[in-house]
Amino acid sequence: MNIPANSPHARDIACHLHPYTNLEAHEKQGPHILEKGDGIYVIDDTGKRYIEGLAGLWCASLGFSERRLAEAAARQMEILPFYHNFASKTSPPTIDLAEKLISIAPAPMSKVFFTNSGSEANDLQIKIAWYMNNVLGRPKKKKIISRTGGYHGVTVAAASLTGLPYVQDAFDVPIANILHADQPHFYHFAEPGESQEDYASRLAGGLEKMILDEGPETVAAFIAEPVMAAGGVIPPPRTYFGKIQEVLRRHDVMLIVDEVVCGFGRTASMFGCETYGIRPDAVTVAKGLSSGYLPIGAVMISDEIYQALVEGSRKHGLFGTGFTYGGHPVPAAVALETLRIYEERDIVGHVRSIAGHFQKRLNSFAGHPLAGETRGVGLIGAIELVEDKGARKNFDPALKVGPRLVNKCLDHGLITRAMSNDSIAFCPPLIIDESGIDEMFDRFARALEDIAAEIA
Ligand code: PLP
Repeated sequence: MNIPANSPHARDIACHLHPYTNLEAHEKQGPHILEKGDGIYVIDDTGKRYIEGLAGLWCASLGFSERRLAEAAARQMEILPFYHNFASKTSPPTIDLAEKLISIAPAPMSKVFFTNSGSEANDLQIKIAWYMNNVLGRPKKKKIISRTGGYHGVTVAAASLTGLPYVQDAFDVPIANILHADQPHFYHFAEPGESQEDYASRLAGGLEKMILDEGPETVAAFIAEPVMAAGGVIPPPRTYFGKIQEVLRRHDVMLIVDEVVCGFGRTASMFGCETYGIRPDAVTVAKGLSSGYLPIGAVMISDEIYQALVEGSRKHGLFGTGFTYGGHPVPAAVALETLRIYEERDIVGHVRSIAGHFQKRLNSFAGHPLAGETRGVGLIGAIELVEDKGARKNFDPALKVGPRLVNKCLDHGLITRAMSNDSIAFCPPLIIDESGIDEMFDRFARALEDIAAEIA
């Protein structure tokens, strides 16, 4: 590709280190520069419009041009552009947001701690579990069980939780005390003839064996996304979370639910916990909390956990952790406005009313020769590409069939991403309507035919 000197593309190549990017390919291809947003669309520097089929990074629930969020940020910038929350300081939007989150939490929660991202929040979940068990006189109860294929972020501790090779390879993670249980991926890992319920029982049995082998007195917490998102959009098999929770309760292992993608309407309930009957001890949120407009995440904890932190701060002088920008009044004001809009527009009701259409269009690809499985819930889904449908065999990753299809989607004006096993993810802004869903899947269908012709 010919990249003119001093173009924004050349300057980006010269100076900008991109996350989750093949750096060598980037030097040749340069960046894709998005300049504007308009509802479910984004517009690049050539003027081309794309449906953002992944809401950016599973986050821009209200699309890319919600004026009320821009106004909420501007208003707060003028009133108080920064304040922190250390040493009992705070500001009104942060108080209001904490109260609001407690009022809508999917299980009784006592306190909210603010972060700038999902990774930081999950990192803190680990610290809280460790701190709590030290305070409670259980210094050995420190292991955290995550799942292969789970995604919980990229800081050293959160990357340790994330069960995906590309997040861990060559980074010297996982750190000690992080274990990975089996992921609940029925399509690949159920045995022939096994029902979803039996598969769920087998997974719960596997988790219990892991806890017993490690010693329950050494296992502090289990962390899970209600639907695994970056791992390939994997909804749990029926009865999975009920059975997992029984195991955790039996061995006094706390349950941390990562609602970073599923929270705020994605699965057609306010939280994924509600969709799957999960009663968490602690919850992580981010992304949809501010519709992605400003960085903000949060940890919510039960009163039982909170009381241990109070005891710890009595012992140690303070609860010694915090981020300069955690609970920043501007993202807090934007998050509050986001939650107001979700309520006023009944965004959960909207998702419920169009989820059937989304899932019908998604599942209409099930008969395609390249589609091994279509799966999803609410307004999130994936189509997994396979070389051999009967054998459920994926393509050789070296062929990069998923990434190539994603590039074809770009040609047809659709942005999406290829996840593990060439699973193409769909997670559009929640404001999408039926005609937007049709347009998105029509564009995808054209791209799929292009790739089918290329590999035939
Ligand atoms: N948890 C889940 C479920 C996520 O999908 C992500 C990001 O995609 C994170 C945590 C990490 O969030 P962040 O990228 O804000 O650190």
